[in-house]
Amino acid sequence: MAKPKVAFYWCSSCGGCEEAVVDLNEDLLKVADAVDIVFWPVALDFKRKDVEALGSRELAVSFINGAIRTEEQEEMVKLLRAKSGLVVAFGACAHLGGIPGLGNFWTRDTIFQSSYREAPSVDNPDGVLPREKVEVDVGELTLPEFYDTVMTLNQAIPVDYYLPGCPPPPDLILNAVNAILTGNLPEKGAVLAPTKALCDTCPRKETKPEKLSITEIRRPWEIKIDPETCFLAQGLFCYGPATRSGCGETCIRDNMPCRGCFGPIDGVIDQGAKAISMMASILGLEGEEKMTEEDVQKLVAQIVDPAGTFYRFSLPASLLRRRRM
Ligand code: SF4
Ligand code: SF4
Repeated sequence: MAKPKVAFYWCSSCGGCEEAVVDLNEDLLKVADAVDIVFWPVALDFKRKDVEALGSRELAVSFINGAIRTEEQEEMVKLLRAKSGLVVAFGACAHLGGIPGLGNFWTRDTIFQSSYREAPSVDNPDGVLPREKVEVDVGELTLPEFYDTVMTLNQAIPVDYYLPGCPPPPDLILNAVNAILTGNLPEKGAVLAPTKALCDTCPRKETKPEKLSITEIRRPWEIKIDPETCFLAQGLFCYGPATRSGCGETCIRDNMPCRGCFGPIDGVIDQGAKAISMMASILGLEGEEKMTEEDVQKLVAQIVDPAGTFYRFSLPASLLRRRRM
């Protein structure tokens, strides 16, 4: 019997999600044995025309990582959508916009100015910027359009399932592959990870005070972090209360607060707003020791880069989607 055909594709991403597939180690051989990988640009020499030659929905599943930043990426994911029975948004950037989505705090023009003219390492005396078409001796060269606004995958094409994380951990990837191969899948649109918040599975949860109150906001490099106590109880911003579990608490076990890469739990539309609301509820002191409005303002001012902190992984998926210029 023919094996199910599978594609892997990357859009605007760092390559970490491709590494995560390789990190399956010997389990990658089991996956490769069970499926026929027919497109994986980072590892195998298949071309776009090979995908174009496939029949409609001939691919059982396409795993697509990265956000959508360029015209070429949008074209490719539309092509893969047409050829795939299922599309899985693989990793935080496809799921929520991820780190490339922080580009939505700027415009294409400001990004080009910074990257090609102003950055200290740039050597560009003529101030040349990327152009979509340029004539050279041998003919016309083209580049895909660089969009002004980064999109999540589901803002470009319909997505069936989401594998969260930066990158998704091996056990969740294997569970997803097995579920797809056996047809044992949840409702369309589901995030293939537990529904609880990270605090529920955190090894430090017993040290999280019942009633939290932060009077000083610290950054990880400013203090010697206790390796067993809840980060919030140490005055460090931890995204755990507003983040889905399932990552194995990787950062926390390495003594770093959660930054939210697994995205929100079910039912939360805007992860950043949820985190802001959580922080607002624990800043300052209650009762007789209640802080003045001025003191609370000073406390809030200690949050360096609040927009980037609260929307580190989810700006394109948020209600605002981008900074309004
Ligand atoms: S806030 Fe962070 S450190 Fe504290 S219990 Fe939640 S996930 Fe763990
Ligand atoms: S602890 Fe938070 S930031 Fe780290 S992998 Fe888990 S969800 Fe992502």
